[in-house]
Amino acid sequence: MPTSSATPIKTISVLLSAPLDKPYDYSLSKEMDATPGAFVEVPFGARTAIGVVWGKGQGNIPQKKLKSVIRFLSIPPVPETSLRFVDWVSAYTLAPKGAVLKMLFGNPKFLEPKKKDRYEAPFFDPDYNQPILNQEQKNAAAVLIDNVNAQRYAAVLLDGVTGSGKTEVFCEAIAQCLRQGRQALVLLPEIAMTAALIDRFTERFGHKPVLWHSGLTEKQRRLHWQAIAHGKALFILGARSALFLPYPDLGLIVVDEEHEAAYKQEEGTIYHGRDMAVVRAHVGNIPIVLSSATPSLETLENVRQGKYGHVILPQRYGTAAMPSVELVDMRAHKLSAQEFISPPLLKALEDALEKKQQAMLFLNRRGYAPLTLCRACGHRLECPRCTAWLTEHKASGRLHCHHCDYSMALPKVCPVCGAEGRFAACGPGVERIAEEVKERLPDARAAIMASDTLDDPKAAQELVDKMNAHEIDILIGTQIMAKGYHFPRLTLVGVIDGDLGLAGGDPRASERTFQLLQQMAGRSGRGEDKGHVFLQTTAPEHPVMKAMVKGDRDAFMAIELKERQAYRLPPFWRLAILTVSGLDANQVIRATQELAAKAPRDSGLRILGPAPAPFAKLRGRYRHRLMVQAPRTVNVSQVVREWLTTVKLPRNLRLAVDIDPYSFL
Ligand code: ADP
Ligand code: ZN
Repeated sequence: MPTSSATPIKTISVLLSAPLDKPYDYSLSKEMDATPGAFVEVPFGARTAIGVVWGKGQGNIPQKKLKSVIRFLSIPPVPETSLRFVDWVSAYTLAPKGAVLKMLFGNPKFLEPKKKDRYEAPFFDPDYNQPILNQEQKNAAAVLIDNVNAQRYAAVLLDGVTGSGKTEVFCEAIAQCLRQGRQALVLLPEIAMTAALIDRFTERFGHKPVLWHSGLTEKQRRLHWQAIAHGKALFILGARSALFLPYPDLGLIVVDEEHEAAYKQEEGTIYHGRDMAVVRAHVGNIPIVLSSATPSLETLENVRQGKYGHVILPQRYGTAAMPSVELVDMRAHKLSAQEFISPPLLKALEDALEKKQQAMLFLNRRGYAPLTLCRACGHRLECPRCTAWLTEHKASGRLHCHHCDYSMALPKVCPVCGAEGRFAACGPGVERIAEEVKERLPDARAAIMASDTLDDPKAAQELVDKMNAHEIDILIGTQIMAKGYHFPRLTLVGVIDGDLGLAGGDPRASERTFQLLQQMAGRSGRGEDKGHVFLQTTAPEHPVMKAMVKGDRDAFMAIELKERQAYRLPPFWRLAILTVSGLDANQVIRATQELAAKAPRDSGLRILGPAPAPFAKLRGRYRHRLMVQAPRTVNVSQVVREWLTTVKLPRNLRLAVDIDPYSFL
């Protein structure tokens, strides 16, 4: 814990932005003033490193060996709130403190401006272009504005159907925060979504928000980091990493599309951006808004327990109505193995084209075909480094692994039986749907939207512009199309394989599928013409499909909550996954067994496993894991941390701890 004493001290502890869990002592010359949070340069091994003063010296280095601080950097010290946030995140996620601090730095290079840096932090006018809200929107905005005025912690779920004006409503809270001269942060789950929102915010506040995400150049990030740390940038739009920046006066956080699993960071420091945003709001004693048309079960449960407030926008803005949803029972249509668009969907596409309306075809699979197999012997082409099939991509003409960077040319002969030219592409990816559209609707102008065809936000913007200019009739894509876009001429959404997300061992599979399908459906009929959704499925009886047709989210969520309770899953129970990985399968298995044997007894934890992870091999590493289930009353992070102090893994193995896992692969 950092101390708040500002009196000069002789020995101080300094936390470095490196994967170290504790601060180290350094000495100070008398005239130096060591405010906690101050940035310092210190000797570190043979080099020097930048760190942050964490507090008084702890005596963990003998007096004689103490090295002294080289200099203080001329940046405002990290605010107390940010220091406590680093402590909290580290304690919760089990990530070393220094690794969390690294996210606050962004990059040590951002800490000092370059001589030629010129950056005028933009002025945001809260009243630049204020819309006239309808009554429901006004009521919702009033609640959020009250919270901003109160200047203390309050979490509210802004729950409105797609197109109800949630963005307009939370902009009112941002405007109020700007009037107070405090910083406001909007978080998005994916960079690809920023394009759609930058324009909206620019129109509303007269200037493009200050951005923070990995797609910016190093120079942009340095300028923005400086503007944020000096409190000059007041309105920030960012990815989850923006949460860790050292805001001197953050007054509001908005988490847009709060249900998105993409908020979970799965590598390095494993954390959930939405959950940590709530923690940040709590530590900073400021309001937070969680916005979604399809809130997560976790958030709905927090609302039910009275922990979060709830404001509802039940209708679309203006005259736009919710789209109709029709199930297409694929068992009733005998399509050939090369066809994936059913007759009713094809007919609907033809109708939309005739009326000069736009359509979207949704399939959550990149590439051409997810599986290539030898028709002679049945051999499937797999990644040599992962437990995964290779996906054919027509664009590159190669087979790619979607889990590592492995790729290969399609072989001429089967490596198992030697048969020549007998490989068959099985199943569809978006490229294959595009091919089918070209064959069956040759006059339609089609385009593909998937993460591999849009590698930067600019490409996303170009596609959005083309859609808006009606230079595209049918947009074919993955879940990347589901979020935030507003295309007034889009009236038809066709879901190629509605069952896709339901398979596999993910306890949130139904919830996610429902959310994704609702978000996709939400793209349709946002203008004057009514929208239609055709949902192809082989399981029309599934609760997800029934709820989609009725548009009955609450009924679906009620069923889902019961199941979660029965199976001891979140939000009623807590989960953690401990994955051991290494190059030697037997060594990995043995280590996981030893870890399991040391599991704490009488701690309330239930340990499942050891068992191979579904991706038993990933990027050449074997993976074995334990799943931990715990009642909500148990501090899982604490118990796991203590457990791990009793185990010493061989150095060539890696252990990843995932508290509150969202990926079960
Ligand atoms: P959501 O975020 O709930 O999906 P949006 O904020 O994108 O909804 O609103 C849908 C569309 O309706 C947008 O084009 C938005 O500009 C428009 N809109 C919503 N509320 C208003 C309003 N009060 N005045 C003018 N336009 C509005
Ligand atoms: Zn692979």
